[in-house]
Amino acid sequence: MSSESPTVAVIGGGAAGLTAALFLARAGLAVHVYDQDRSILKRARLCNLPGHDELEGRELLEQLRGELEARSVTRHEGKVDDVVAGGPLLVKAADGELAADYVVLATGQGTVKLPSLPLETAAPRQPFVKVNVVTDKWGATSVPNVYACGVVAGWPSQAVVCAGSGANVAIEIASKVKGEFWVDHDDTRLGADPE
Ligand SMILES: Cc1cc2nc3c(=O)[nH]c(=O)nc-3n(C[C@H](O)[C@H](O)[C@H](O)COP(=O)(O)OP(=O)(O)OC[C@H]3O[C@@H](n4cnc5c(N)ncnc54)[C@H](O)[C@@H]3O)c2cc1C
Repeated sequence: MSSESPTVAVIGGGAAGLTAALFLARAGLAVHVYDQDRSILKRARLCNLPGHDELEGRELLEQLRGELEARSVTRHEGKVDDVVAGGPLLVKAADGELAADYVVLATGQGTVKLPSLPLETAAPRQPFVKVNVVTDKWGATSVPNVYACGVVAGWPSQAVVCAGSGANVAIEIASKVKGEFWVDHDDTRLGADPE
């Protein structure tokens, strides 16, 4: 990776977007999260998170936001109005413009209104979901260097699934940047007996 880290703009700060941002930051990329703060997690009491009895969705959001702050991820409050492709990806938001090397769409179950972005979309299978952005299994969309994860990418509306899809997209982007498959493991116990 060059001395200047590639910039990734994550649009949407719910389960998928914040998890993508966490993995991207851990991989050493410069990450910006844009969020309107309308995650449906704010209405959820999560009853099926592995390793937890129950967790308020708001609590999960706060924990993730705290982790990102500690990793110097830049948070932008407000809506992204458009993304212009064809060179660096130009993210147009309420607080100004950002030239990004990669964009991750994690906008949840609403409509996607990014008029300049020629995204291939499909009818959603799930209730309450307005549209799905078509991706391959690594989250790549029809627009080069634009990825999608979470409910907008057609994943089941479950926090752990959407978070996992965010991690998946981040691993793909980090692997592209580094030129080899990125594995985010703590290897300090490599070889230790798992007993
Ligand atoms: C009542 C309820 C109960 C639930 N209970 C459970 C449960 O028990 N277990 C479980 O696993 N799941 C549960 N869920 C589902 C879980 O909350 C979702 O699956 C998960 O939040 C989806 O993650 P996401 O990141 O795809 O979308 P979201 O978490 O909705 O995040 C999308 C984010 O994108 C932002 N955004 C959208 N467009 C833009 C834009 N243009 N610019 C900037 N920001 C934008 C939104 O403001 C939002 O913050 C529940 C949901 C509800 C509503």
